[in-house]
Amino acid sequence: MKIIVIATKNEKKLHELRRYLKGVRAHVVSLKDFARVPRIVENGTTFKTNAVKKALVISRFTQGLVLADDSGLVVAALGGRPGVRSSRFAGPRKSDKQNNLKLLRLLEKVPPSKRQAKFVCAVAICDNGKIVKMIEESCSGIVAFSEKGGYGFGYDPLFLIPKYKETFGELGLKVKDRMSHRSKALKKAREFLRSYFATAVK
Ligand code: IMP
Repeated sequence: MKIIVIATKNEKKLHELRRYLKGVRAHVVSLKDFARVPRIVENGTTFKTNAVKKALVISRFTQGLVLADDSGLVVAALGGRPGVRSSRFAGPRKSDKQNNLKLLRLLEKVPPSKRQAKFVCAVAICDNGKIVKMIEESCSGIVAFSEKGGYGFGYDPLFLIPKYKETFGELGLKVKDRMSHRSKALKKAREFLRSYFATAVK
């Protein structure tokens, strides 16, 4: 059976990605399954650059097929911020709550018509040190005026979906799974991997 290494140590992310990759005939493992892994500094200016960097570094290390992703929130009124700095928007080691409060503060005087945002997810798939697939998907919404709902993580309580007039935090995983940046990107990754495994001469 083929092995896909997911370039993360985050158990929650691994769990989520495993779910999206169901149907791919491969054993999905993560960096937790390796004793010593190279440290990766995510200092790219785009989601794609970060995903590619992670995939390349890990693929050279593990010698096999690696899937790496990078995602975040892009807010038009803030010139694209928090962007690639989404997880550390309020500073290193700050919580999701602190990131959300900073976002709300910066958008305090911004009217509803100018609060467009999108979640972006870039996925890079690398085989033996070579990028074989790049995917980028997004999901559009509006930044709410206060946090709502307890589902999800990160900016989910602020990410309002106009069609439902509710945030991802209120809508829950079933709806989010249907339309999120990550689910769209991973669905494409799954299709790619299915045909890659079917046709690749190894
Ligand atoms: P990662 O690249 O998937 O680890 O995401 C980086 C950061 O982007 C997270 O720490 C969150 O702040 C934000 N983010 C990415 N995806 C989501 C999402 O689906 N919901 C809420 N926040 C997200």
